[in-house]
Amino acid sequence: MNRILLYVVIALIALLPVLPVTPAFWITHLNYVGLASLVVLGLVLLTGVSGLTSFGQAAFVGIGAYATAWFTTQMAWSPWLALVIALAITFVAAYVLGSISLRLSGHYLPLGTIAWGLSLYYLFGNLSFLGQHDGISGIQPLEIFGVSLADSRHIYYLIWACVLLAMWGSRNLLDSRPGRAIRALKSGQGMAESFGIDTARYKTIVFVYAALLACLSGWIYAHMQRAVSPSPFGLNYGIEYLFMAVVGGASSVWGAVVGAGLILTLKDQLQNILPVIFGHNSNFELIVFGVLMVLVLQYARGGVWPILAHWWEVLTGGASDTRRKAPPADAPALAQRPRPTSGAVVLQVEAIRKEFGGLVAVNDISFTLKAGEIMGLIGPNGAGKSTTFNLITGVLKATSGRVRFLNDRLDTLPAREISRLGVGRSFQHVQLLPDMTVLENVALGAHLRRNVGVVAAALHADRSIEAELLHEAAIQLERVGLGDYLYEQAGNLALGQQRILEIARALAADPVLLLLDEPAAGLRYKEKQELAAVLDQLRKEGMSILLVEHDMDFVMNLTDHIVVMDFGTKIAEGTPEEIQTNPAVLEAYLGGIDDDLEITPEAGSADPALVPGGASVPAGAMAGGSSK
Ligand code: ADP
Ligand code: MG
Repeated sequence: MNRILLYVVIALIALLPVLPVTPAFWITHLNYVGLASLVVLGLVLLTGVSGLTSFGQAAFVGIGAYATAWFTTQMAWSPWLALVIALAITFVAAYVLGSISLRLSGHYLPLGTIAWGLSLYYLFGNLSFLGQHDGISGIQPLEIFGVSLADSRHIYYLIWACVLLAMWGSRNLLDSRPGRAIRALKSGQGMAESFGIDTARYKTIVFVYAALLACLSGWIYAHMQRAVSPSPFGLNYGIEYLFMAVVGGASSVWGAVVGAGLILTLKDQLQNILPVIFGHNSNFELIVFGVLMVLVLQYARGGVWPILAHWWEVLTGGASDTRRKAPPADAPALAQRPRPTSGAVVLQVEAIRKEFGGLVAVNDISFTLKAGEIMGLIGPNGAGKSTTFNLITGVLKATSGRVRFLNDRLDTLPAREISRLGVGRSFQHVQLLPDMTVLENVALGAHLRRNVGVVAAALHADRSIEAELLHEAAIQLERVGLGDYLYEQAGNLALGQQRILEIARALAADPVLLLLDEPAAGLRYKEKQELAAVLDQLRKEGMSILLVEHDMDFVMNLTDHIVVMDFGTKIAEGTPEEIQTNPAVLEAYLGGIDDDLEITPEAGSADPALVPGGASVPAGAMAGGSSK
């Protein structure tokens, strides 16, 4: 958001209570909006950004409220000490609950949080030391430096200071190394693991973060209300918080405030208006909310905030040209891992096999790749090339066989550990985070090269390391020819460019071995030449590259060594020259048609290419060819 608008909003928040024209009920209302915003902010990170749905946030609010209620009234402890204890209890509860339910995929988390929300609600209502359904009253107001916050105009400042701080921290967190990992949780988990990101850990982190914000909200709430009872911490409030996040815009920190403000104001108004219309008191607003939810999901999936932000952009003259933005500032180069000496064996695949039910997708394939070598893995569609890649990179477990990489065995390791050892890859089906910038996508690849904790990131104490990561990402993008697109959203790039972006991302991980699955698919002739030049340069620098590609010109001119697969089996291996005249290869590609058909691409001419399952066709016609 525009900086000026931000200052105006902050000034407005600061001045509102002291303006004589502000009605007292506005302040009370804004206090509730602020408290809800804290909870919803957690949901923005959890649900909007990470794709993890929780119905149980109200229960964490309850822990904060009940903990301080009990410790301050029964034990006569300071509310500040009670806050620390409440946060600690929440931390443990969220950590345990998260560790159990987050590992399960699909609907287990929402169901788990519903169960959690319900059971905590009944626990509050049934424990006699918590006052059962009457709750706990007589809670003292907060006091800061001798100033009592009993007046709603005073606690207002505490609430909104917390909201703004939490927004600032959340924004910082999202815009950092751990933040990129968190943003990959929703749609790029497999990819993230392939770059060494421990997705289970980051899920637990956001879950705990959201719970702590809810707990803080509950703590303030208890001291504002001066009494707690179970009802505001029930499942229906958990649903309402989620609703606020969805309506506001679950992917922006501003969406939290907008959503909380809109829903609470609407609820307030509806509770005044609906009984007048229908003549008696009932929870009619729930019906209106239900309809509203359907409308939002139908017409404004992203919530209200993105629409407001768009209007603001139009009002203030539109978005700036991303191409004119300066690249990230220079920063010290990241440390590089030692390279094996040229010619040393880097990858040794020994009789790997993968069966999918009765289908043998990879049938005891063996090959060796040396440092400073580019090896091509070719074969018709469905030959098992991508599966072989996935076996080497740990995405799939081999049925049998071994994969050795330098001094380690890969076939026993998960993808995350394999990337840590220095294996970088691209994917046949591009796996980017389309809403993130090109630069951020590539910086994700450098995740393992520097460490930044969540707290440091939230406090913006990570800026020098962040600068190094972004600088590295920019260098790799420049190298592959995407230097003009640093701040473009990755999803806006052409498919061919997205593939190149994937190469930059893999390079940012500083790999020793690079596995590229159809990198030239979708590229134009000139772009292919540029890509070939980049790969050739990498080879000269000692990189080992394993390449799956359908463009035979590209493969034959670039590789040192080729393995040909068909129906999962290795049918030939040798230099490009040997492969081009190998009868088994011709048979596989051309189905054994005319013996006199020659496949001998000569440099410079419109070379015939090996076409999977087809006849001899000029190589240019293969541009963009890709397999399933
Ligand atoms: P290529 O990359 O050479 O085109 P793949 O490795 O993608 O081929 O696929 C090899 C064979 O394995 C194909 O028959 C494909 O249908 C099958 N296959 C790939 N992945 C799976 C999977 N996850 N489950 C079942 N069959 C699969
Ligand atoms: Mg494939």
